[in-house]
Amino acid sequence: MSKNIFDKADVILLGAGCANLSLAARANELIDYEFTIIDPGIYTAQNHIWGFWRMPWLANTKPISRKCWYKWKIISENKSIIHSTEVFPYTAINRNDWTDDCKKKAINNDIKFKDKFTKKYKSQIIDSRPPKVPINNMLQHFVGHEIQTEKDVFDDTTAVLMDFRCDQSLGMHFIYFLPFQSVKHLLNLHCLAQKKRLLNFMIMQLKLILMK
Ligand SMILES: Cc1cc2nc3c(=O)[nH]c(=O)nc-3n(C[C@H](O)[C@H](O)[C@H](O)COP(=O)(O)OP(=O)(O)OC[C@H]3O[C@@H](n4cnc5c(N)ncnc54)[C@H](O)[C@@H]3O)c2cc1C
Repeated sequence: MSKNIFDKADVILLGAGCANLSLAARANELIDYEFTIIDPGIYTAQNHIWGFWRMPWLANTKPISRKCWYKWKIISENKSIIHSTEVFPYTAINRNDWTDDCKKKAINNDIKFKDKFTKKYKSQIIDSRPPKVPINNMLQHFVGHEIQTEKDVFDDTTAVLMDFRCDQSLGMHFIYFLPFQSVKHLLNLHCLAQKKRLLNFMIMQLKLILMK
């Protein structure tokens, strides 16, 4: 097939994750390009919370956000600091809510979804497949639970982004606590370390915190 200069530029998006779906959802703003998303659909990520500051370019996350906080806290053994904003709140969304919302918009934008690469002619390629992680790289490990308490025990106006009052023996380790309501919360443990055997250690730590 031959192409002429009036044809739209053909762009292949490899991987239907956050990056390429976010682009495809806004393809109507890029009228000179024709996008095709290629994803075999065999790598399924668990649903989880994404947290970020809602800057002006992320205003479109507002309708699907679960909650936002205008104050957030960092806690160490001997100090606690609260930061605040009036304009760019810390926001939580469910990963799947965002990707589903983007997929709907992408379909409205006539983006094609395919499970393998079959184009014969040259296309531009945006490759968002996750890179292989080199051995001994520092990794961020997460273990989390949504919990519900019987009584109002937490202040739901302040997100706790890092609470270092936990075991630091296997890496930099902190608790991430998002109070969605005064009785409903996400409790997450994050650890920056090389070791994969951390998972059991982190599950134990989470159990210990929940028992307190
Ligand atoms: C538990 C957890 C919590 C997180 N929390 C936050 C947070 O709070 N804030 C934040 O900013 N970020 C967070 N992140 C990071 C965030 O998920 C990533 O930054 C984001 O998903 C990266 O987007 P991406 O499109 O580059 O990759 P991904 O979203 O990983 O997408 C890559 C896509 O490539 C596809 N793929 C893989 N192999 C192939 C192949 N061979 N051919 C075609 N397609 C392929 C996969 O199916 C996948 O859909 C978190 C991540 C995790 C796991």
